[in-house]
Amino acid sequence: MDCLFCKIVAGDIPAKKIYEDDLVVAFHDIAPQAPVHFLVIPKKHIRTLNDLTEADRELAGHILFVAQKLALELGCEAGFRVAMNCNELGGQTVYHIHLHVLGQRPLAWPPG
Ligand code: AMP
Ligand code: ZN
Repeated sequence: MDCLFCKIVAGDIPAKKIYEDDLVVAFHDIAPQAPVHFLVIPKKHIRTLNDLTEADRELAGHILFVAQKLALELGCEAGFRVAMNCNELGGQTVYHIHLHVLGQRPLAWPPG
């Protein structure tokens, strides 16, 4: 399958990995938009948030929990943001779901 993030999961493309377990991988974003900007992705290929199913409930919760754990480990206790872009209008460019975690700068609301 020609998926960039599946290749990162497989180790075929290098990434600055922060964390890995049976279900997820987390790595630093290649074009960081904040001093801390990493992605948490499922190892399972899920194309968009719309493709999530009941069977993925536990996985979806695990992604959030890993995001929280790593954000705190990386010094974002003052605050951080998580975001998941869905489809073209939502700003998604890589079609393997990923939770962005951004921190260590003030984050405006609403986002652009
Ligand atoms: P999105 O626009 O929400 O689909 O986000 C895709 C994100 O993946 C962007 O923030 C990119 O900078 C990031 N990205 C693309 N290629 C890589 C890569 N090889 N390693 C790490 N992050 C990447
Ligand atoms: Zn994939």
